[in-house]
Amino acid sequence: MSQATGYFTHKDCWRHEMGAGHPECPARLDAIEDRLLITGLDTALERREATAASLADMELAHGRMHLASLRGLSDGLRDEIAAGGPTHAQVDPDTSINIHSWDAILVAAGAAIDATDAVMAGELANAFCAVRPPGHHATRNQAMGFCFVNNVAVAAKYALERHGLKRVAIIDFDVHHGNGTEDIVAGDERILMCSFYQHPFYPPWEHSTAANLVNLPVPAYTKGMDVRELIDMMWLPRLDAHKPQMVFISAGFDAHREDEMGQLGLVENDYAWITQRIKEVAQRHAKGRIVSCLEGGYDLSALARSVEAHLRVLADV
Ligand SMILES: [Zn+2]
Repeated sequence: MSQATGYFTHKDCWRHEMGAGHPECPARLDAIEDRLLITGLDTALERREATAASLADMELAHGRMHLASLRGLSDGLRDEIAAGGPTHAQVDPDTSINIHSWDAILVAAGAAIDATDAVMAGELANAFCAVRPPGHHATRNQAMGFCFVNNVAVAAKYALERHGLKRVAIIDFDVHHGNGTEDIVAGDERILMCSFYQHPFYPPWEHSTAANLVNLPVPAYTKGMDVRELIDMMWLPRLDAHKPQMVFISAGFDAHREDEMGQLGLVENDYAWITQRIKEVAQRHAKGRIVSCLEGGYDLSALARSVEAHLRVLADV
């Protein structure tokens, strides 16, 4: 029997929210799940409940003080709420936690770790983690841009340190630059990070020129066909030279034409195409091993359709 594509999530991922009207909202996960049900794609996926990540595993990518301060912020909020204070604690102007956020942070990172274990064990062909909060803006020591712990960077380090892999790749196709991932992996030659992103744009960040990064900044209004050409020219030769034994994806879908968070022009077919290219790399070098984690994507309809396109390629249905 052929292996399935895993779908990892946890109800705590719905309980983290950053205030009324915030685009990074629980309804994003509802939109994805509704789409999977309507299309019947859910029946082709192996659904698994994520477990909480351990501090020791998250420390593979983060400073102990960063994690302790997030935990402390959460504990402090609990006390404030008990005393009749505000329901959210602010991390930056766009980023805050509620009483459930710490638990969500743990299962979001835990999903990426559990998916890595299951794919490494050969129980699953590959996996998608439908989790929030997202992670790719979280640096080693700083939460920012809706992100607290860098789920993909934790899982990539985990694959190297706990499973003994020598080389992995991180692909980031979110419209925003994965500055947090870059901060954590720059200079680690075991990890090749390939990304494209709208530039200039959020986040304000001095891009690293480390040799293990393939950064492709593209201007606003770049279309999918141009992005595909860049990927063929710039990512694939580097990926084939690196020969990753496992591929991680920071799967943000906010480069979609209909997503007003960014100004790029990708559509569902572009996400299917990119996923297919990544899958071929994984098949050539990594026994097909892919763990993909949700990052951005804020237009609910476009997000749901794009995740469907991504999953259809991963699951081959
Ligand atoms: Zn984004």
